[in-house]
Amino acid sequence: MNRRLWTFFLVLISLSYIFAIITNNNTIGDMVSPILVFVISGYIFYGYVIQQKNKNMVCFGWLLTLSIFSWFVSDLWWGIQTLILHSNPQDDLITAYGYFVTNLLLFLAVFFTGYQDLKKMNKIQAMLDTLIVSICMAVLLWLFVFEQSNTKVLLLLSDPISMASLVIDIIIYAWINVWIFSTRLKKPPLHHLLLVAGGLMYVITDFIYFYIYFYSNYEPNSWIDGAYMISFAVMAISAYVKGKLNIDSIPKEAVKNIFYKFEVEIFILFIPIVVLIFKRSQLQYFILLVVALLIYYVLINFTQKSIFQEKLLELEKENVLGLERKVEERTEEIIKILNTDFVSGLYSRRFFETLLSETLNKIEIDQKIALLYIDLNKSKAIKYIYGKETSDNLVKKVAEAISFIATENFGIIASYGDDAFVIMLIDQDADLVARKTAEQIIEQCSESFYINNYPIRVSLNIGISCFPTDTTNANDLIKNADIAMMQAKAKGYNRIQLYNDKIGKFTYNRHRIELKLKKVIFDNEFLLYYQPQVYCMNGTVCGFETLIRWFDEEKNFISPSDFIPVAEEIGLIIPLGYWIIENAAKQLATWKKETGNDYRIAVNVSSKQLMETDFVQRLHNTLKRYDILPETFEIEITESQEIEHSIEILETLKEINKLGVLIAIDDFGTGYSSLNYLKNIPVDRIKIAKELIDKIEDDVYSSSIIQMAINIAKVKGIKVIAEGVETKEQWECLKSLGCDEIQGYYFAKPMPAKEIVKHWIG
Ligand code: C2E
Ligand code: CA
Repeated sequence: MNRRLWTFFLVLISLSYIFAIITNNNTIGDMVSPILVFVISGYIFYGYVIQQKNKNMVCFGWLLTLSIFSWFVSDLWWGIQTLILHSNPQDDLITAYGYFVTNLLLFLAVFFTGYQDLKKMNKIQAMLDTLIVSICMAVLLWLFVFEQSNTKVLLLLSDPISMASLVIDIIIYAWINVWIFSTRLKKPPLHHLLLVAGGLMYVITDFIYFYIYFYSNYEPNSWIDGAYMISFAVMAISAYVKGKLNIDSIPKEAVKNIFYKFEVEIFILFIPIVVLIFKRSQLQYFILLVVALLIYYVLINFTQKSIFQEKLLELEKENVLGLERKVEERTEEIIKILNTDFVSGLYSRRFFETLLSETLNKIEIDQKIALLYIDLNKSKAIKYIYGKETSDNLVKKVAEAISFIATENFGIIASYGDDAFVIMLIDQDADLVARKTAEQIIEQCSESFYINNYPIRVSLNIGISCFPTDTTNANDLIKNADIAMMQAKAKGYNRIQLYNDKIGKFTYNRHRIELKLKKVIFDNEFLLYYQPQVYCMNGTVCGFETLIRWFDEEKNFISPSDFIPVAEEIGLIIPLGYWIIENAAKQLATWKKETGNDYRIAVNVSSKQLMETDFVQRLHNTLKRYDILPETFEIEITESQEIEHSIEILETLKEINKLGVLIAIDDFGTGYSSLNYLKNIPVDRIKIAKELIDKIEDDVYSSSIIQMAINIAKVKGIKVIAEGVETKEQWECLKSLGCDEIQGYYFAKPMPAKEIVKHWIG
């Protein structure tokens, strides 16, 4: 129906009813009253049944609706009797029962909600409240309704319906009171207040009705009927508000309020005052009420205290629970943070290690695990050039790319330090899957990554270790993959290396050497050997190469090929290098003193040492100290990219040259050898690598290179010495090619200084 039309209709029937009540017009009153009550019951049905989801609320709604509906039916029946049947409805028993049903259902509805709330109430409090309200009610009824007359009580007893109605009214009234007292709501919602007001109004109207019924004559459609209608209307408004707003009947914070008691209980004080005003002669009842109230207040003080404590305890419990919840949440957050890598967003190292151990413990017999250790190169340089943010973004992007491939191959990936990642693969052929995955990763990551529009290229090295082939231990699995990765790195960029025992031994050895080197005492464990160098023409001595020997604490020999690279890596090569120069110079000075001759001595110098800014100065000082002619001292440098490209080294070499000290290029013809070298570096001698000498007789390529080197050297005035000559044939060959000098086992192995004196310069 149209909204406006409906409002108009409502206003019209309301006004008609008001008119009927004011003018006491029975025809209009009997006609309009059922319509109005019907509409009201509809509103209550809408607000308290249709709009509600809570089962208890719906139940209450049905009871309330039916209660009002029963009034409607009675009213309708009343109208039919007066307007159509023209009989007196006041004598009709059905009418009386009909109105009684309203009371009964209302009682049930109130009882129902009261019962629900009883669970939330303090039981002792509720009992005390019931007691005091009952006493007050009893006194009021006795004084005002029965006027202290037993006959009136008997009269009431003779009319069972009226009596029942009255009893129910009393109970409803008491219930509502108790309910208001005991729940002690601070700010009840509006619909709640309206409902309680409507209920109380109805009950009070009913009391008055019975009073009128007993003492005077009830007139239909008088103001008392209007009062009933208003009480229903108030309930309907409550239903409307409830339906529209749909709020819980008791807001939680309202129940918590515990300081509200006096505001509620002050109401009860009115009852003795009413008695005092209206029944002044009945002072004993006033005293009775005051005493009852005093006892009530004393007792309630205790219950309120216990309620207070109960509430405090409840609040504390809630707080503790809240705190526990927060701690749990925080713990979860912390664990999540610990398990996640900050930069890449992948699992953290900690999480991965735990997961790996757990997986190893429960892996099935036919399954294997492969562990990929992926090292991202160059990221430090990127950090330096582009800044940390770009570097972090790059790591993130690379992590994403790798993670995608890992997931595609059913692997679990985690971050392992700044620029490293690990992947765990579980499969019957985990080693094969690992290889495939590694290849895919290298292929994917060789494309440029765009960070803030910069195209950045990265390179990777991947080491792979397998369970149970390589190890059965989680830590070793990671360690082996890391070792394999380092091996891959040693070979160049974008390499993959599977772990094997050889690599393991090699790395183990390297670590062992590193540990030993870190506590080595130079003078106790190191020793210099000298290998004679001879003229190719006649085999007479022309110089010596200094070669270091290391006999450790237990007098085990460790080859320089094994420990020199480690010494370079850990920086020990610098002090060791100076120690070698010092001792070689000292030796040369001793030989000179002993024989009166100047010999040439060569010392191997690492490129790392040539980068030292004060190298030339220190070399100069040493030679001066031992009074050594610079042209009898030679430094051997091994060809390398570093030497060719480092400006510092080039400068150093030029200064050495200026000093008059000789420079020899070691291992010439291998590695980075380029003839350009000879153009830029002030070289005095080239040492043709043993590798070429080995093949001089039967490999044309080798002999051609040697020939070419000799020819160019001749043009440039550079001397040529052949290294590692082991046979007479090699010597002959070199002689025919025009080589200047020779060094090798054919003439002499490296030997201690004493032997040199004995066999070579004595
Ligand atoms: P290198 O400078 O090429 O040294 C020559 C190596 O070949 C020496 O090995 C020497 O003993 C060996 N050798 C010489 N003639 C023959 C031969 O006819 N047949 C064979 N099979 N070998 C021959 P060593 O002493 O074991 O040194 C190995 C490497 O260790 C050296 O290669 C050098 O790079 C490094 N090294 C040795 N002593 C020193 C040193 O005092 N300082 C530095 N920085 N490096 C050193
Ligand atoms: Ca050498």
